[in-house]
Amino acid sequence: MSPNESVMFCNQCEQTAHGTGCEKIGVCGKSPDVSALQDLLVNACRGIAIVAVDADALGIDTASAGAFVADALFTTLTNVDFDAESVAGLVGDAVALRESLKTAVRDAGGSAEYDDLYATFEPAETTAGRIAQGREFGVPWDGSRDADVQSLQETTLYGMKGVGAYEHHARALGHTDPIIYAYLFKALAAMSDENLDLNAWVGLALECGAANLRTMEILDAANTGAYGDPTPTKVSLGQRKGHAILISGHDLADLKALLEATKGTGVDVYTHGEMLPAHAYPELHAYENLAGHFGTAWQNQHKEFREFPGAILMTTNCLMIPHAEYKGRLFTSGPVRFPDVTHLTRDDFSAVVEKALAEPGFEWDTTVGEVMVGFGHNAVLAVAPTVIEAVKSGAIRHFFLVGGCDGAKPGRNYYTEFVEETPCDTIVMTLACGKFRFFDKQLGEIGGLPRLMDVGQCNDAYSAIKIAVALADAFDCGVNDLPLSMILSWYEQKAVAILLTLLHLGITDIRLGPTLPAFITPNVLGVLVENFAIKPIAASPREDLNAILGEKA
Ligand code: SF4
Repeated sequence: MSPNESVMFCNQCEQTAHGTGCEKIGVCGKSPDVSALQDLLVNACRGIAIVAVDADALGIDTASAGAFVADALFTTLTNVDFDAESVAGLVGDAVALRESLKTAVRDAGGSAEYDDLYATFEPAETTAGRIAQGREFGVPWDGSRDADVQSLQETTLYGMKGVGAYEHHARALGHTDPIIYAYLFKALAAMSDENLDLNAWVGLALECGAANLRTMEILDAANTGAYGDPTPTKVSLGQRKGHAILISGHDLADLKALLEATKGTGVDVYTHGEMLPAHAYPELHAYENLAGHFGTAWQNQHKEFREFPGAILMTTNCLMIPHAEYKGRLFTSGPVRFPDVTHLTRDDFSAVVEKALAEPGFEWDTTVGEVMVGFGHNAVLAVAPTVIEAVKSGAIRHFFLVGGCDGAKPGRNYYTEFVEETPCDTIVMTLACGKFRFFDKQLGEIGGLPRLMDVGQCNDAYSAIKIAVALADAFDCGVNDLPLSMILSWYEQKAVAILLTLLHLGITDIRLGPTLPAFITPNVLGVLVENFAIKPIAASPREDLNAILGEKA
């Protein structure tokens, strides 16, 4: 089946069907209708961007348009919004916003006349009509365009979805930067410029990495400003007797609001998945009802949500199609939506608290163990002299950054085995949910420094970059000259944004797995190999370890 004949086409994540594209239904559960609406929403954002570029040139305030575009892109990220009515509504909002921007352009003396389909289309009245529009002019891969340019456009678009997600979180805490919106407008508008060649799109893709670096920087400032610098902290993996809420996703503002909503109610809050690093923020750790962490990475949620005896709040990606056993006690917030699942906003979480009080909760106290979190850039750089001395003395031979997403497909045991096989004179830094394959391993210490350091969520790749740059400064060399190797796993589009950031910074020799993205053509891969020496993970961790330690030890 070619993309043009399929009922949908989506290739944006690592689990895409057959390693090429989901054409009948998403492996993630995304329906063809929602896929069509998400395509239409992205194209509606392209229309906003075309007008916003002109509005920016005329000095018109486009901040609200930028925020809308970032949120809309976040909506189309893998495992976020499965609700056709919600996405169809956003398409209408996008066109209304585009038209109001045109009015502002005209009022400022501009022409606001456009030929581009996405800058002019009118949304159908009904959801069914918008689905039909999404099928008619939504699917990006039509086979008539240069495949390599298309590949880079998709890479850039998926990176922008990651930027949208991180910008959404930063904005929730009052941090924005118009530079980020200006990039989103520029790159989305560029998708309609058929004169841009491969080199131009390489530039736009790397610029996406720069925009994402700035986004992660303001998100780091937002999180640390609101909740304090992450501090090495022990987190209980056990449970306390009593009513409970499990909070998953990435949104720290939602966690804070939930901790406030449950204060004094007798309901304990447990983190799940990417919420684990939240325990390291002093302002969040201070809540007595932040009881611990339950479960592992997103792809295990069917089992873990079923077993959790309380209410569940999913704040961002990565929602899977809910099973009946827990759907009635599941709530969503932020951009996450699923039909017939109650959606809440952080100004009123009373419904999830009431549900927790109606559920049995944990029947008794259980001791399971603890893990350490909180090795953000401030914590690690506070012990920089110890680290530097350990490297100079030979006590630390090498650093590995083993980070990125977890996922359901086979092949990800590589990362567990890689960490298990790292020599005892090496340090493993980790971040994002891929760490759940080894987060409770006892790797010991080197001179008082833990051999396994959890840097944080996926967005805390910024922390890892800060640490690497500081080490390079200390040793008066470049990051690529450090005894540091990056072994990354990807699943969705935030990982694409982070990879583009690393490439923008000129980081080379990244090992990427478990498979390479379906949207990267052989020629584009050739560009990446030639300029950045990026490589797929080897068949075995031992093979990569031997190569790395032989090369850089
Ligand atoms: Fe398929 Fe991934 Fe797209 Fe879902 S997000 S439809 S699994 S490629």
